[in-house]
Amino acid sequence: MAILVQKFGGTSVADAEKILAAARRAIRAKMEGFQVVMVVSAMGHTTDELIALAKQITDQPPGRELDMLLATGEQVSVALMAMAINSLGHDAISLAGPQLGIFTDSTFTKARIRSISADRIRQLLDEGKIVIAAGFQGVDPAFNITTLGRGGSDTTAVALAAALQAECCEIYTDVDGVYTTDPRIVPEARQLKRISYDEMLELASAGAAVMHNRSIEFAKRFGVPVHVRSSFSDKPGTLITAYPESMKRPVCGAALARNEARVTVLGVPDRPGMVYAIFSKVSARNVGMDMIVQNLAADGRADVSFTVPRDELPLALKAAEEAARELGAEGTSYEDDVAKVSVVGLGMATQPGVAQKMFAALAERGINIEMISTSQIKISVVVERQHGVEALRAVHQAFALHEEVPVEEIPGAERPRPLLTQEVLERLQGMEDLVIEDIRLDTTQSRVTLTNIPDKPGLAARLFQLVAEAGVNVDMIVQSTGRDGKAAITFTVPREDLERCLRASQTFAQEVGGAPPVGSWNVAKLMVMGTGMRSHSDVARRSFKALADRGINVEMISTSEVCLNIVVDGTRGQEALEALEKEFADVRL
Ligand code: ASP
Ligand code: MG
Repeated sequence: MAILVQKFGGTSVADAEKILAAARRAIRAKMEGFQVVMVVSAMGHTTDELIALAKQITDQPPGRELDMLLATGEQVSVALMAMAINSLGHDAISLAGPQLGIFTDSTFTKARIRSISADRIRQLLDEGKIVIAAGFQGVDPAFNITTLGRGGSDTTAVALAAALQAECCEIYTDVDGVYTTDPRIVPEARQLKRISYDEMLELASAGAAVMHNRSIEFAKRFGVPVHVRSSFSDKPGTLITAYPESMKRPVCGAALARNEARVTVLGVPDRPGMVYAIFSKVSARNVGMDMIVQNLAADGRADVSFTVPRDELPLALKAAEEAARELGAEGTSYEDDVAKVSVVGLGMATQPGVAQKMFAALAERGINIEMISTSQIKISVVVERQHGVEALRAVHQAFALHEEVPVEEIPGAERPRPLLTQEVLERLQGMEDLVIEDIRLDTTQSRVTLTNIPDKPGLAARLFQLVAEAGVNVDMIVQSTGRDGKAAITFTVPREDLERCLRASQTFAQEVGGAPPVGSWNVAKLMVMGTGMRSHSDVARRSFKALADRGINVEMISTSEVCLNIVVDGTRGQEALEALEKEFADVRL
């Protein structure tokens, strides 16, 4: 019999009436012939209230006890849900994390799932019961109750769907599905009918608060189709699967992260290990870095900038200062009033001109771009915070995201293939462990660097317009504005186009009064690909270390959820590839 997992979030079980409504929905699915597992969150704002309560007692509650406390929220809702189903004349049983057989590591308040033994659930389903599972919790090897991190019920739901090989994991929530961007900010945002795992991961980490990111990683690894839909209607929502709505469309969505900060380590002596030193200091403090950009200066020193969430700025600054001292850099600086706008789409990997279009949309509104970082399926820019919303709207409009697209028919889209085979799983310690899917070396690229460009709106748009007119497809772009108000842009283009590209860049430099462009014929681009590369922040640190240990200098970087791109000197490409393969040998797919 087919199994259906239905997850109800906090707002969908906020009061008795809503609990009864959710119960009816599960009963309906059962009458339609499914075996039903419900996963429920704590009612309404219960989790926030429990945290506030703990804070009244102490500023630093021990993690173990906090988890003991927080897990009660979900325990209340599962019991009430089972009562609701019983009262409606059907058989149900509630189970807390340990009873569900969800085994986690011991990282209290953000534990990762190691394994699930689903035998008990299967048996209860076979007895004809609806199983009501407490979301967000599990048990560690020492029988301590653990929780999976805020929003973790999504992960419970997808993980159970994976373990039970469910037909689908339905996520019932207070919105109709996944939108092209946040409809509260951009009212013309459109609900997507389908979105791929990778796009969803990128959008979520770029600022779209839809689902717990780890739940999407889980879904991708185990090939679980996820259906995000409204608990208050029967309309179809958004299917999250291996395929996008349409590959013809370069961009599927846009996101705004309003509260970002930028940190710069100034005048770092440019030598191998520099990036590693900075990165390891920051990640040791558990701060997630994004958009890492280095500007090479003429005197053999570089400025390295990166963005972090604004509330992590104090920690990031401490780390940066430490790194600056160690490296003999000139100092550090920061800006705490910036926002990050990103566009995401699997289609952009095969279509040229996407970045150019985004830059043009911002230029038209006179919005200055302070930083750029592009990767295969995501382009991010940093702007002043006050322009964040306008920038998001401009970009949404430029890609006509409000317009319906015909959903490409893909046979089997409802049944994506799992990424992890049994053989791979047996090698891993836990279901959520890091897995590197591929490591690639691209030796077809060359690099162009422009420095000393007076910083003003429209520069990137103009440069990449000239480059596009020269018939050159740009691959990876990084840009940052230095302390002197001058911008530097570095990008890669196919080698055979380097000459033409340099001519176009020369025209640009003359127009704006920047330094002449510098071309580098021989660069190597390395791509480390995986799932949840940023929640496993160790991937970047380990990669930089592996290269630093071999004295290989990192020239360009861009990071995303699914790929870490590193450009190094072309003569060291093969060696760099070997270093990375060796580093990740134990977790290679
Ligand atoms: N109740 C938990 C939270 O509020 C888990 C969840 O809702 O997914 O974070
Ligand atoms: Mg919640």
